[in-house]
Amino acid sequence: MSGRLQGKVALVTGAAQGIGEASARKLAEHGAKVVISDIQVERGEQLAAELGEGCVFQHLDVRELESWEAAVAAVLGRFGRLDVLVNNAGGGAGGPIEREPLSEHLRLMGLNVTGVWAGMRTVVRPMAAQGSGSIVNISSIDGLVGVSGLASYVATKFAVTGLTRALALELGGRGIRVNSVHPGIIETPLVKKTPPSSLERLKRAVARQPIARMGRPEEIANAVLFFASDESSYCTGASLVVDGGHLAGPYRDPL
Ligand code: NAD
Repeated sequence: MSGRLQGKVALVTGAAQGIGEASARKLAEHGAKVVISDIQVERGEQLAAELGEGCVFQHLDVRELESWEAAVAAVLGRFGRLDVLVNNAGGGAGGPIEREPLSEHLRLMGLNVTGVWAGMRTVVRPMAAQGSGSIVNISSIDGLVGVSGLASYVATKFAVTGLTRALALELGGRGIRVNSVHPGIIETPLVKKTPPSSLERLKRAVARQPIARMGRPEEIANAVLFFASDESSYCTGASLVVDGGHLAGPYRDPL
């Protein structure tokens, strides 16, 4: 086992499946003690048991500040420190603006924006007391460019990019680094349950990429590992795009 994260304690949200699960596995593989948090208790507990000693499950609903406070208190009670927070929990949907109910807009804001805000707000105190910490926020390529028909989702992911940069500035003097990872189209349960018409749209988009396939969750986890480790000690406020070249430029037929 490589020790890139030896001695570190990491909390990953939405870690029961998808990118969060892959991140939790990767951080544990590299020596971190990982707190797997999610609202899916059974899957989360199974993963913690599989990852073995030093990894635990903690119920955490990222939308609720009280849930964050209880979860972080539990982590500190058990491990005495918290070095890495991966704000991964999030979700998609919404749709064309005239057809999108206010309730759906507010649901996405609560999960994708307030969830990330609340996590960072809660870990600042213990990380600042340690004088060090790394926060990794999972935004999206949709947090860097617009997408027609997905205004609310796009707004939430731009907000994650903005929170990352604002807090990198605000917290840098206290030893806390804040960076964002921007996945492209990644084959996770979230994408697999996309309605067929949207899935076809995603497949066409992927076919035009320089790397013409969906990404694997582990490929995002590698970027999370980099920001979590001290190898990224000079990175803060950075946005790392992991998208098979999706954002490199508009598709043209090759010359
Ligand atoms: P996923 O739906 O497969 O997994 C999301 C996890 O978050 C689930 O385990 C779910 O139980 C958990 N979760 C949902 N609501 C929660 C809550 N209130 N509190 C705590 N946990 C909660 O999703 P994924 O594809 O792995 O996506 C993970 C992150 O990556 C999201 O922020 C998503 O927006 C982002 N992302 C995904 C893609 C992609 O193509 N899959 C692309 C760009 C960005």
